[in-house]
Amino acid sequence: MSEKPEKLIDKKGVRLDGRKANELRPLKLQVGVLGNADGSAYIEHGKNKILVGVFGPREMHPKHLSQPDRMVLRCRYHMAPFSVQERKSPAPSRREVELSKVIREALEPSVFVDLYPRAGIDVYVEVLQADGGTRCAAITAASLAIADAGIPMRDLVVACAAGKIDDTVVLDLYDAEDKLGAADVPVALMPNLNAVTLLQMDGILAPEEFETAITMAVEGCKKIYVMQKEALRTKYMTVKEEVEE
Ligand code: ADP
Repeated sequence: MSEKPEKLIDKKGVRLDGRKANELRPLKLQVGVLGNADGSAYIEHGKNKILVGVFGPREMHPKHLSQPDRMVLRCRYHMAPFSVQERKSPAPSRREVELSKVIREALEPSVFVDLYPRAGIDVYVEVLQADGGTRCAAITAASLAIADAGIPMRDLVVACAAGKIDDTVVLDLYDAEDKLGAADVPVALMPNLNAVTLLQMDGILAPEEFETAITMAVEGCKKIYVMQKEALRTKYMTVKEEVEE
């Protein structure tokens, strides 16, 4: 990245990409995009492009990883070598191992894992293009892919970050804001249960700023949730039309 610009947000409250402080990046969500997976979804969140494929519930391999009383959810977050400007090594990085765990933990509370003892589901997240906030976009898409696989869920999970650039708390940071800004707070939410399943913070915030950031991120999640439901509805309306033809 080139030198840090003098200001990430101007006096009128406009950010480098033209957004206001509490504005989300443009989003596009699609459900059922892969023929061979049991469930799938695709998200474009700003410049992020992420594809998720889900398999299961199915027999666990290797068997010794299965649990007698519940289903095991496995998650793999992977960034394609071409997803960032400098070619990323295709080998799993520490960051990818961490994000796989964080995404799994954000999704797990939404799934009725005790309905499928000894079984497993695999969630494969492929980041095709990254521009900050990929863990959140991945959670939003993965939850749709799990629903698309027909796995019983308590709620969808939707995620969005807020953070601080210069002295302002803003919604949904993109890569430059994430790197040059002061803090980033990713939040995942089950909107109907009003339960947070992921809360992280990278950087430093005053307690009031932290609260503002969480409130802002939750509001962002609720807006994305409307789009999530619409994406599911679109998939099933298409299926219904095909059946009726
Ligand atoms: P998140 O994508 O959830 O915000 P990070 O804060 O770790 O996760 O990463 C922020 C952004 O940094 C990513 O979305 C991506 O745009 C960029 N990034 C991550 N890993 C690399 C990499 N190996 N090379 C270049 N850019 C990267």
